[in-house]
Amino acid sequence: MGTGQPDFDIGIIGGGPAGSAMAGYLAKAGVNCVVFERELFPRPHVGESLVPSSTRVFRDLNFLDQMEEAKFPHKFGAVWTADDKKGAYDHDWDGLAPDCHADIRFEERQQDGVDKNYTYHVDRGKFDLLLLQHVNRMGAAVYEGVKVSRVDFGEQHPVVHFNMGKKEMGVSVKMVIDASGRQTFLGNQLKLKIKDTVFDQYAIHTWFDNYDRKIFAKKDTHRDYIFIHFLPISNSWIWQIPITDTITSIGVVTQKKNFAKAKEEREKFFWNSVQSRPAIADALHKADRLRPFKDEGDYSYAMKQLAGDRFILIGDAGRFVDPIFSTGVSIALNSARFAHTDVLAALEKNDFSRQSFSNFENTLRLGTKNWYDFISVYYRLNVLFTYFINEPKYRLDVLKLLQGDVYDDATPPVLEKMRNMVTEVEQNEKHPWHTLLGDLTANAFRPQL
Ligand SMILES: Cc1cc2nc3c(=O)[nH]c(=O)nc-3n(C[C@H](O)[C@H](O)[C@H](O)COP(=O)(O)OP(=O)(O)OC[C@H]3O[C@@H](n4cnc5c(N)ncnc54)[C@H](O)[C@@H]3O)c2cc1C
Repeated sequence: MGTGQPDFDIGIIGGGPAGSAMAGYLAKAGVNCVVFERELFPRPHVGESLVPSSTRVFRDLNFLDQMEEAKFPHKFGAVWTADDKKGAYDHDWDGLAPDCHADIRFEERQQDGVDKNYTYHVDRGKFDLLLLQHVNRMGAAVYEGVKVSRVDFGEQHPVVHFNMGKKEMGVSVKMVIDASGRQTFLGNQLKLKIKDTVFDQYAIHTWFDNYDRKIFAKKDTHRDYIFIHFLPISNSWIWQIPITDTITSIGVVTQKKNFAKAKEEREKFFWNSVQSRPAIADALHKADRLRPFKDEGDYSYAMKQLAGDRFILIGDAGRFVDPIFSTGVSIALNSARFAHTDVLAALEKNDFSRQSFSNFENTLRLGTKNWYDFISVYYRLNVLFTYFINEPKYRLDVLKLLQGDVYDDATPPVLEKMRNMVTEVEQNEKHPWHTLLGDLTANAFRPQL
């Protein structure tokens, strides 16, 4: 082990969307790769609503037909609501009149390489299983129920260690791709992780059957959109994601300081939060809860580096930004799309030094920085977001970000405009939006990156 010919060219830790997509790209190019997945699929997972840039990866991997056959609900757009009756953010000043309701349709903007005017909502148990099976059929080896315990970089070839029953095994590879999600396997082992102390959000979520998704739908078609319901509690919101015709995923996101520790208290917190939007609470009480509540805690972070000698970090293993814009699966899939070309070139040159992965590292840093800036502006001043969406001259630029096209522009002009407007509101105490400024600012985090 570790010297001579390695067992596989590439070892991938984790069989979620990032790991599967990477295995698919490599198998398509004829590379001898293996995925280590600690769970036996299907397993439930948070992160059920996609953005359209995911379609490029499904198309590259010939996976779109399966997405259709699985009958995942089509997601044509998104709706944001702020109040059951009157808009909490309904203000008027110098022509600034944002509504409490905003909606977008993806078809409003053409996207290169995406020939559908919709994306999908997915049951992650089913979606992750289908994708992993698909890349297995494409030629990637898959070891399920195998939890990687350590990667040894000391030898000529890295050795991936895991247990099979009581026996410790090691598999040698030319390089390791960490796609272990929020477990951040290599980030922990190599001490690369920087916790995001600003976005210390928590979420509690479950599935409901027969929840009436039309309560806030202005059109019949909105029934299958994702809904983001702002709550009157600061920095808190509810997601409403269709899973099937009758099943809906509902989650409450809030800041750590609002989140109760005890399990029963957390459930109470869920119901208290939804109660602040009585129409939603009423519809939920009439529906049937299908699963126990599940919570996800304190999840945002970055890594000091996304690549090093003989390894790269993709998907959540490399970075997690707050899920307000449903970005995670798209980042996971697209990080595999960007990284695989560097990996193929490294195999060709037999050069696995960090430098070989700089295209991937730079592209992903740029994209996640844009997401992060967008999210920061959103949390700082929600009202600005609905204003920009409803303002025709900015609408398509905001939509471009919401579609997941964030990797081609170092400073998207619309983000610059949003930031300038936030500064104006911050500096002018008389501005009617001044009192609406949220207390989350990304400045505390930025210097570390
Ligand atoms: C509250 C919340 C809401 C979210 N909402 C959305 C949303 O609406 N839309 C969206 O796109 N994203 C959303 N996300 C983000 C989304 O869940 C992730 O970004 C996405 O799952 C990342 O995919 P991945 O492949 O990188 O990681 P994962 O999907 O987590 O896959 C990692 C895999 O690695 C395996 N693994 C871990 N450790 C090991 C080990 N040691 N050995 C072997 N295998 C291992 C795990 O079992 C897992 O299967 C949300 C996240 C949170 C926290």
